[in-house]
Amino acid sequence: MITGKTKLIGLLGYPVGHSFSPAIHNAAFAALELDYIYVPLSVEPDNLGQAVAGLKAMGFVGANVTIPHKVNIMPYLDELDWSADMVGAVNTIVIRKGRCIGYNTDVQGFVQSLIAKNINIKGKNAVIMGAGGAARAVVCGLIEHGIDQIIIGTRSNPKAQGFVKLFPGATNIHGCDWQEKMFTDAVTQCDILINCTPIGMASSPKIQLPINWSNVKSTAVVCDLIYNPSLTEFLIHAQDEGHEIINGAAMLVEQGALAFELWTGENAPRNIMSATLAQFI
Ligand code: NAP
Repeated sequence: MITGKTKLIGLLGYPVGHSFSPAIHNAAFAALELDYIYVPLSVEPDNLGQAVAGLKAMGFVGANVTIPHKVNIMPYLDELDWSADMVGAVNTIVIRKGRCIGYNTDVQGFVQSLIAKNINIKGKNAVIMGAGGAARAVVCGLIEHGIDQIIIGTRSNPKAQGFVKLFPGATNIHGCDWQEKMFTDAVTQCDILINCTPIGMASSPKIQLPINWSNVKSTAVVCDLIYNPSLTEFLIHAQDEGHEIINGAAMLVEQGALAFELWTGENAPRNIMSATLAQFI
């Protein structure tokens, strides 16, 4: 039952109607009998500063942040945890003593989705398609866990080069247009191939990612950050070719579980969270 003592967690996004996070978190709070509620809050980009002030004013204890606010919210926060600083984006806010602290749990969310399948990152080569916020989190996680080389492929070379500049200390990241030879060569050598674009989501244009499957090593693990649909066309191709595949569901659950733990201080019920997500996808 919601009372005046119920602790409030918000989801700041625009739009937010498609998100499974309210269902996942509210199921987790119910399972642990915690007096919390998670509410989606549709915030237009121009109102983001007012929304952050509103969270504080209304006594929220935390929030998640989703597209398109993950980067733009940063100036409105009082403090950034190292995870948010490293990625340059925030997906979780904790509000303590009236101060908003920004975190990024996507980094560990992605890495844990590999570790859960016993996939070793150290010394491996990765190819990433896409250069947005999620790709930044993936790159940070891979670097932290000792990846050898990362090639970023995008639909335009300047975007890829701009992305690489976000990691000035890392000499093992290179970027290119995914039509270039550098990209096709990297694909033949990669151990982990990751889609960080929205290509494959129901709402995206029906286009194919630029992979010639006959060039991909049979041992390469193929990941798609998309979780809805649970099997994108990209993953279906990979599976047909005999590759181990990982979709974005485990990452979604893990980043949510880590946020849950920041807000509540309790171990997140990951099995309940996964089962709740599975009802939708
Ligand atoms: P984003 O910041 O908007 O970046 C998207 C990237 O994909 C950009 O590099 C963009 O290129 C590229 N892209 C978009 N549409 C494209 C197209 N039609 N053709 C070629 N490239 C295209 O988005 P994001 O936050 O990184 O999210 C990317 C995906 O990851 C989304 O599907 C999201 O749902 C998923 N995701 C999953 C989780 C999870 O927990 N599983 C977490 C975060 C994100 P331009 O810059 O050229 O536009």
